[in-house]
Amino acid sequence: MKAEIIAVGSELLLGQISNTNARFLSGKMTEVGVDVHFHTAVGDNRSRLTAALSAAEKRSDLIILTGGLGPTRDDLTKETVAEFTGTNLVMDSESLSRIESYFRKRDLPMTENNRKQAAVIEGADVFINYNGLACGMAVKGETVIVLLPGPPGELEPMVQRDLLPWLARMTGTGEAITSRVLRFFGIGEAQLAGEIDDIIANQSNPTVAPLASDGEVTIRLTSKGMPDQNVQALDRMEKTILSRAGTWFYGYDTNTLAKVTADALGKSGSTIACAESLTGGMFGSMLTGESGASSFYTGGVICYDANVKQNVLNVKEDTIRTYGTVSRECAAELAENVRTLMKSTIGISFTGVAGPDSLEGKEPGLVFIAIADSRGTAVKRLSLAGSRSAVRERAAKFGCYFLLKQLNEEESTKE
Ligand code: ATP
Ligand code: MG
Repeated sequence: MKAEIIAVGSELLLGQISNTNARFLSGKMTEVGVDVHFHTAVGDNRSRLTAALSAAEKRSDLIILTGGLGPTRDDLTKETVAEFTGTNLVMDSESLSRIESYFRKRDLPMTENNRKQAAVIEGADVFINYNGLACGMAVKGETVIVLLPGPPGELEPMVQRDLLPWLARMTGTGEAITSRVLRFFGIGEAQLAGEIDDIIANQSNPTVAPLASDGEVTIRLTSKGMPDQNVQALDRMEKTILSRAGTWFYGYDTNTLAKVTADALGKSGSTIACAESLTGGMFGSMLTGESGASSFYTGGVICYDANVKQNVLNVKEDTIRTYGTVSRECAAELAENVRTLMKSTIGISFTGVAGPDSLEGKEPGLVFIAIADSRGTAVKRLSLAGSRSAVRERAAKFGCYFLLKQLNEEESTKE
């Protein structure tokens, strides 16, 4: 099936917003085996939208439109598609009652324009909008035309909940496409690809696709077939891959390193305090961004200046004089002392050279991360490449990664 995505909205053409809907939809279509051949963007203009539809109809089996379903004058996607397909707009009673109750609950007046949002193309399958007012819809025909709301917060859940199952039913073999993302940290894309070189070379079903971004690497496994067979095939492939690269594996799908680490901390019953020099609070911010942080995060000290390291966190003057603040020794004392100061079970510290200039005669990218707990203190030394912000962000992520490894080890020795 060949698909085309038409994003409707003058804002796109004026450079005011990015066409993230096209990107999202293309990703989803790839996952379910639909080939997207064209992305089109067109302004809120009836004749140009009609021209875009005519062009799309000639070359595509599926047209997905986004935007222009709202209540205002410039929202004309439904009207234009109705005219293009020679159909009428009719009221969808379920959508209308949802809209009415929305306004009743908020005690707001409802206008004729709002009623317009419940209008659908006659004969279309309607997708209820659980995150907004404008419903989506799919019109069957020689070329299938799908209309989705513009705001990504409305479009994305609708695609997941309604459009993908609808497409699966329409193509109707009972087969499904199931994918799973394995997430890795602490290993480069090239090295990971090297570990599973033969698997990538011989892949067929499931397919195996590595991708690198933000210092992390993911591998997407996609299996096509009957749903339960897909799960088994993915399980087998995952096992093979993790037998080679399991050391760097941290989680699945949309999970982040921060989320997985926060979950592990919560489960372990530990509490953590951090002393952050290089990362300036980034690590604490990552952890406190996750729900449940209050059960394990006690607090942190941003100890940027050597005096703060010495006076607030009691790093020995001698340590700083002999080894410098960017050192194994200083990192260890920071982690141990912040642990004591905040009465937590774990202390973690970050010290390093973010760059672009060197510090204490040490090169940018040199980072020490120490983790102190009741059993002792472990210090990791890293040489990170990249810009100042990349070094800081990757250091914070490495903090999560080392901590996660340690928590997992503890968990397995308990078992
Ligand atoms: P509304 O009911 O909010 O008017 P709509 O379906 O009519 O929704 P538009 O009016 O076209 O959609 O766009 C509403 C908002 O959705 C835009 O201001 C923009 O923030 C977002 N949006 C629209 N199209 C896209 C797109 N292609 N990619 C990302 N965001 C988009
Ligand atoms: Mg609108």
